[in-house]
Amino acid sequence: MKIALIAHDRKKDDLIQFVTAYKPILSEHTLYATGTTGQRVIDGTGLEVIRFQSGPLGGDQQIGAMIAQNEMDMVIFFRDPLTAQPHEPDVSALIRLCDVYGVPLATNMGTAEVLLKGLKEGFIDWRLISKDRK
Ligand code: PGA
Repeated sequence: MKIALIAHDRKKDDLIQFVTAYKPILSEHTLYATGTTGQRVIDGTGLEVIRFQSGPLGGDQQIGAMIAQNEMDMVIFFRDPLTAQPHEPDVSALIRLCDVYGVPLATNMGTAEVLLKGLKEGFIDWRLISKDRK
């Protein structure tokens, strides 16, 4: 599965903690991330991550493009709901595209844990079937 990791600045520490805790599961998948988040994950966990541009410079849109091509299977996006983001339209567009294409999306750690446990149990394997149909 292809999994996108994104965290706003004040949520990056939480994401590193989360990725560290779920490293055994995440290491079995292909990880993508926006620029700064990706570098933090690489430095903090040693996992391989394919990095896009930083979020404010278009990284969210690059991940959105993958979703639109049915190329992204899950998005874990630790948003900061208390800080205005200069690229808020991109953030909304990314979340919207997840809903358009039915891509599992977690915007906080509570949901992200459920998603990864579901991933491990095979509850998201339907993504592989739906991709084959394309
Ligand atoms: P960053 O982008 O990983 O480059 O910080 C995340 C975001 O703000 O969308």
